[in-house]
Order: sequence, then C-alpha cells, then structure tokens
Amino acid sequence: MAPIPGSGLAKGLAVTLRTMTKKTVTAQYPDAQPELPPRTRGVIGLFEENCTVCMLCARECPDWCIYIDSHKETVPAAAPGGRERSRNVLDRFAIDFALCMYCGICIEVCPFDALFWSPEFEYAETDIHELTHERDKLREWMWTVPAPPALDPGAEEPKEIAAARKTADKLAAEQLAAEQAERAEQVEQAEQAEQRATEQAEPAEQAEQAEQAEQRATEQAERAAQAAQAAPPAPAGTEPQAPAQASEQGESPATGGSESPEPREGES
Ligand code: SF4
Ligand code: SF4
Repeated sequence: MAPIPGSGLAKGLAVTLRTMTKKTVTAQYPDAQPELPPRTRGVIGLFEENCTVCMLCARECPDWCIYIDSHKETVPAAAPGGRERSRNVLDRFAIDFALCMYCGICIEVCPFDALFWSPEFEYAETDIHELTHERDKLREWMWTVPAPPALDPGAEEPKEIAAARKTADKLAAEQLAAEQAERAEQVEQAEQAEQRATEQAEPAEQAEQAEQAEQRATEQAERAAQAAQAAPPAPAGTEPQAPAQASEQGESPATGGSESPEPREGES
C-alpha cells in the first residue's frame, strides 16, 4: 500500500510535539552540579592510618598503577622482658589515575579498610603527570568519602564500633571514678582543715575568757577600793569596825558604831 503523502511529516511532528512536552534530562553541568549516587566511583581516597603496607592492592591492581614505598622500623618491647618488633612504615603511596580503570579491585582486596571510593570526579588536568595522586592528595580525598549506609534494623553491631564503645565506656568509668575520688579527697581535706581551725581556736577562746575574768576581777577590786575610800571615818577613841563585824552585830556600818544597848538589871 502506497504511503499517504505527508504522513511521514505528520509522524515527525508528532514525535517532536511529544518530546517537547516531556521533562528534560539534560544536566546543565558545570552550571548545575549533578546529583551522584553515593557509591559513585569518582576517585580513590587513602586512610593511611589503616594501611599496614601489606602490598596486596599493588599486587592485585590489573593496571599496575599503584606505587608503594616503605621501610622497616624496630619498635621497642611494650613490656619489660618482651620482644622488639619490626613494622613497615609507609614512605610513598600513589595512584596513577591516568592508568586506573576504576575497577575497584584494590578497594575490595584491602584487608584493613584503607582505601575508599569517593564520588569526586573534578580532577582533570592539562598535564598527564598531574594525574598521579600522591599520598597527601589521596588523603585529602578521604574528606569527600560519604558515610557508610545505615545498617539494617536488628543487624549485629559492627565489632569495630562495639570495641570502640567498650573502650569509651571504660575510659568514662575510669574518669568518673577518678573525679569521685578527687572530690572525696577534697571533702576530707576540708574537714581536716576545719577540725584544725577549731582546735586552734579553742585555746584562743580560753585565753580570751581568762583575760575577761581577770579584767572583771580587777574592776571588782577597784570598785571595792573606791567603796572603802568613800566610807566615813570612825569616831575618835573607837576602834573602827570592819563592815563584816558590824553586820554581825546587826548595825549598819553607816551608823558609825552607835551604842549598843546594855542589858539592864532585871531585864535579863
Ligand atoms: S581501581 Fe583497579 S585499576 Fe584503579 S588502582 Fe584500583 S585496582 Fe588499579
Ligand atoms: S591493601 Fe590496603 S593495607 Fe595493604 S598496602 Fe594496600 S592500602 Fe595498604
């Protein structure tokens, strides 16, 4: 059957119209940054504290683009009588991203979790030699590595986290015990200081009381002397009687020793 004239044009226009109404998928990079999935293979980061220079990654890399240099160091024995140990110290760790084919084998085989994928991809260079990232640069990529996905609910806690939490709990308990012991010691020292102050204050108080008693006695003696001076003189020819004797005879010393009534005859 012969095609209808103009049907091809209508089909083409229909496709154009359909596409015009669809949402565009063009990424406006570099004006807009793409939203990359967290497991994107952008660049490799090195966490060198975990690297033991076992060389597994360099041996397994199909492109031979990992360069590692190291030397041995002797570590003294941790305890008296123990043995010295030797360990590898990392001198150089570099990856040539001009050769790398982003297979991820090095990350998979690393037994110590020292290599990670980062989604960063903006490291194009005009000089190919600049694509060999040395240890410091590989370490900087670590800051761009996304956090690992959350564990499934009910999953067993990773043994690294469990060990770290156990150590943190132990340290916190030790710190708390030390703080409590220090506080108890401070309280005890304060009590001892208070007791010493009380003991030192007692003799001072006693001395003060003795001084006050002495002062009171002096004042009383002075008053008695003033009273004795103020008393009227005894009449001539009579013996001055002591106030005490006068009191015994039922007379007031102020009366000046008036005649005592002699019992008359027949009154007795
Ligand atoms: S990703 Fe593959 S090619 Fe690249 S360094 Fe690792 S092992 Fe080598
Ligand atoms: S496999 Fe891991 S631990 Fe071994 S040398 Fe490579 S990065 Fe370091």
